[in-house]
Amino acid sequence: MDFLPFTRPDIDEETIAAVADVLRSGWLTTGPKCRELEAALSLRAGGRPVRLASSATACLEFALRVAGVQPGDEVITTSLSWVATANVILAVGARPVFVDVDPATRLIDLEQVTAAISGRTRAIIPVDLAGFPVDRDRLYALAGCHGLRVIEDAAQSQGAHWNGKELGSIGDLVAFSFHPNKNMTTGEGGCLVMNSEQEAVYFEKLRLQGVTRHADGTYDCDVLGGKANLTDIAAAIGLGQLKRLDQAKQRRRELARHYFSRLAGLPLDLPPADFTNSNWHMFQVLIPADLAARRGELIRLMREAGIAVGVHYPAIHTTSLYREHGLSDAKLPHTEAVAARILTLPLFPAMQDTDIDRVASSLSAALASLKAAESRA
Ligand SMILES: *Cc1c(COP(=O)(O)O)cnc(C)c1O
Repeated sequence: MDFLPFTRPDIDEETIAAVADVLRSGWLTTGPKCRELEAALSLRAGGRPVRLASSATACLEFALRVAGVQPGDEVITTSLSWVATANVILAVGARPVFVDVDPATRLIDLEQVTAAISGRTRAIIPVDLAGFPVDRDRLYALAGCHGLRVIEDAAQSQGAHWNGKELGSIGDLVAFSFHPNKNMTTGEGGCLVMNSEQEAVYFEKLRLQGVTRHADGTYDCDVLGGKANLTDIAAAIGLGQLKRLDQAKQRRRELARHYFSRLAGLPLDLPPADFTNSNWHMFQVLIPADLAARRGELIRLMREAGIAVGVHYPAIHTTSLYREHGLSDAKLPHTEAVAARILTLPLFPAMQDTDIDRVASSLSAALASLKAAESRA
């Protein structure tokens, strides 16, 4: 049987041909394809300005700068995310303040956000883990009430909705990722949705050396920008992927439904069964707490059965860098419990229903074998 990865990008022949056209065109770096992709993304975002960069990490860091977050400021976020979410806060000299997750949704607990607000709090970075959106009504009511900026880490939730509106078309600053594991890819890349042309112009400076070009061929540099522009090669991939984003989401939803029916009898905590908002970026289960210490063994058993499963994510505050920053003593019992038990199962649009059956039966056997080992111990 073929090895089943936990995700796999799906690039069609039309997109491969479009990339070849860019390679033959003589213009490889940021150019017409990037502008075309920005326009297409802006259309989906209800006409709001959208700019591309070489990663969502760069977009999140620039978003903090656009939001005016300064060294010494505090930014409230979740520890149950890819480290990029908090790394960007350190990168701008601000302090991440981690609050716990709601164990049912695995998302930042907005009640705890309110409790964590101090005089130094400038912004909140919520994360739509697995593509399941944080409650935007409560989030923006809270942010509005306390005068905080919101930088949505929507790296995983492109094409997801809130109250019938696509993410990006509502809210403050919204960052999407086009990493190959995400629901659409540009190889590597990301974009930021902003509120005004003024913010977009600042973002353009940050992504390319702080330079503004003049019509006479000269330029000025008035901001310490970086080097994070996207290539037209990457944008051509993104244009092909964007056309298929909705169709891919439909297929992910069908596969997720199939998981719910096949996993119902197993001793697992399943994700929220949301078929209106989530884009089903990942299908994540929690294994029983008494088997958490054996998760590595479970991953090995699944691998032997030809199936890749993943851990998304170890809690950020427990990693060495965050320990060195004195952030590891945050009281985050739900985050730590979920991080210890979470397991990402394979989910990508090219999967067959029979692949889900195979994951479910292998997982059932692996859990039984772990349970037996645990009772012997
Ligand atoms: C992937 C991801 C990022 C970073 O995206 P890149 O494009 O790889 O920089 C940030 N946050 C979350 C939650 C992610 O899943």
